Amino acid sequence: RAKAELGSAVRFFQEEMDAQVRERAHLESELRRAVTKGDIAVHYQPQVDLANGELTGFEALARWNHIEWGDIPPERFIPVAEECGLIVELGRNVLFQACTDAATWSGGETVSVNVSPVQLHSVDFAQTVEGILLETGLAPNRLELEITENTLVRDLQAAQVALSGLREKGVRIALDDFGTGYSSLYHLRNFKVDRIKIDRSFVEAMDTEAESAAIVRALLGLGHGLGVKVTAEGVEDAAQRQALIRQGCDDAQGFYFSAAMTVEDARALSLAQSRSLVDETYDP
Ligand code: C2E
Ligand code: MG
Ligand code: MG
Ligand code: MG
Repeated sequence: RAKAELGSAVRFFQEEMDAQVRERAHLESELRRAVTKGDIAVHYQPQVDLANGELTGFEALARWNHIEWGDIPPERFIPVAEECGLIVELGRNVLFQACTDAATWSGGETVSVNVSPVQLHSVDFAQTVEGILLETGLAPNRLELEITENTLVRDLQAAQVALSGLREKGVRIALDDFGTGYSSLYHLRNFKVDRIKIDRSFVEAMDTEAESAAIVRALLGLGHGLGVKVTAEGVEDAAQRQALIRQGCDDAQGFYFSAAMTVEDARALSLAQSRSLVDETYDP
């Protein structure tokens, strides 16, 4: 009897596993198709200078709208793309799209592009980036590459080789989701970056949790001590914005300012912002 029950439990488990494997394979083949057909769109989330509220840049974020399944969040499809190697092509497409779009922004904003460890450690990463900059005509100092600490953990030397040449040409490097990866401080000593981005989880909890508030303060001190800019991610309300301004945080991103938008909206925002600046300068 117990044996029969165990047998059916094992069978059930096996069926579950099979279903998961099939679903995963289906997702992967649909993703492959979407990447090949150019169905992965790029949306842009504004980044603002906290001191004066000015738009300084946009973060490029991959968007996949599946005809049957609807919107699939990047947190679901990026890991799949990384596991099956598709991320190299997907990442290149996002980079190309982002640089092409940024070249049309009249305000000269920067574009920040997320780079996966797999992509960074693929052969010719630096040449690919240089080629895209040449082809799109975007000035290197308007491109910022966002990497996570885990990219550095994987192979610090390889990351250094891939990124130092680009950095010499003016491309900026940001450490994304800072504080959530491994051995952040060790890497900050050995790896030159232009910016750190405080992870949303700390910003989210800073007004309710003393620990998070202390971590935000410490990260700001650390960044500024190292002479790098600090961006806060995931700013959702005025109180968070105020606290960050008080503490001297440089830039911010979050739903309080805006969610990611289409390229048309980003272009319009850039135009409106550069116009209002011109107006302020030239209006009598
Ligand atoms: P990330 O690079 O840390 O991007 C910020 C994420 O936080 C975005 O989610 C953004 O929409 C979300 N966000 C921004 N402001 C707020 C806020 O105020 N509140 C909350 N709750 N969320 C906010 P998204 O677009 O879903 O992307 C998730 C992650 O997927 C990204 O995190 C990034 O790690 C990855 N990702 C997205 N696009 C790409 C890509 O083209 N390449 C790679 N390698 N990864 C990407
Ligand atoms: Mg990012
Ligand atoms: Mg982030
Ligand atoms: Mg994140």
